[in-house]
Amino acid sequence: MATAGKVIKCRAAVAWEPSKPLVMEEIEVAPPQAHEIRIKIVATGVCHTDLYHLFEGKHKDGFPCVLGHEGAGIVESVGSEVTKFNPGDKVIPLFISQCGECRFCKSPKTNLCEKGWASDRYDVMSESDTRFTCKGKNVLQFMGTSTFSEYTVVNEIAVAKIHPSAPLDKVCLLGCGVATGYGAALNTAKVEPGSTCAVFGLGAVGLAAVMGCKNAGAKRIIAIDINPTKYEKAKVFGATEFVNPKDHNKPISQVLSEMTNGGVDFSLECVGSVAVMRSALESCVKGWGVSVLVGWTDMDDFAARPIQLIAGRTWKGSLFGGFKSKDGVPKLVNEYLEKKVKLDEFVTHNMTLAQVNDAIQLMKTGDCIRSVLSVALQ
Ligand code: NAD
Ligand code: ZN
Repeated sequence: MATAGKVIKCRAAVAWEPSKPLVMEEIEVAPPQAHEIRIKIVATGVCHTDLYHLFEGKHKDGFPCVLGHEGAGIVESVGSEVTKFNPGDKVIPLFISQCGECRFCKSPKTNLCEKGWASDRYDVMSESDTRFTCKGKNVLQFMGTSTFSEYTVVNEIAVAKIHPSAPLDKVCLLGCGVATGYGAALNTAKVEPGSTCAVFGLGAVGLAAVMGCKNAGAKRIIAIDINPTKYEKAKVFGATEFVNPKDHNKPISQVLSEMTNGGVDFSLECVGSVAVMRSALESCVKGWGVSVLVGWTDMDDFAARPIQLIAGRTWKGSLFGGFKSKDGVPKLVNEYLEKKVKLDEFVTHNMTLAQVNDAIQLMKTGDCIRSVLSVALQ
């Protein structure tokens, strides 16, 4: 490899400050150090968590950064001590690491590896260390990945090697949104056959949750969104009924309770709003209802009456769908290749990295499910 061991200059979309459009810049990407892998990013999705950091969280110490955490690419070169990856391997960078050695990795109960940015940098949402510079400044790697760049460097504990025939412009969605929603239904809620489920928010995360409920054998899947253009897509993934909270002049939890003789068995919040989180909990049936928080927010406290939990409901959260990342993602890629998991149906727009601000705008206005950007040529 002509570039191995050298700094690569390449194109990236830099977020210089919160709430401003991203700027296409030439950045320098340092060679991978011990245990690191430099990846040529071929394709990336745009996820609402990118928008959250840019427009909602706005943590000033989290900038400048390169956003993007739902990508797929090809190994360009590896640092010393890397034995399980080679140049040319197809890979997905992971925003949750799996070191395999910490007490969390050793427990079957969680996927929260204690290494990597996600263990303690929820506010800044980036590694403290970065391999990127631009115009003489360090540029942070958002969620440890930064897929809005032609090249990125990621520690091997946060890279999944995937099947060589996987189409990167589809399986990139398993780097975040689809794995997240799908796993939240299967691994965290543990949806049961014959059950009644409610999914709040029908972006890619919510639609993947619908797909998870369906694959788990749910009988009724009630899809809820304030944007009715999402219902047709929800049908494709298995939703059986649709509710628009705006069509009712009573709380959505009451509407769902009346539809289901007392509440749903499982609810999943895929919006990122504390008010919707409360509604999702209150939509569950007493005695055994389980509600899972999937939407991302760390800005406001949430509230609920204690009786909701005293009466037997369970409130849980899910990061990356509960999947142990390095083990789970290659399996999900294989399930896509075996047609057990849908991906193509999530992609509503194909664009280039230079059009990233248009893709962000489409998500802001609710006019897309997933935009997939082509980044570097394969
Ligand atoms: P998206 O913007 O594509 O979808 C959100 C959907 O919610 C939209 O269809 C919108 O119309 C709908 N919505 C908004 N307000 C609503 C309300 N009051 N009631 C019902 N529906 C409402 O976003 P996405 O990419 O699918 O992500 C969804 C959420 O999941 C975001 O908060 C994102 O940050 C989060 N997320 C969490 C994880 C995790 O690991 N927990 C991973 C990825 C994304
Ligand atoms: Zn995401």
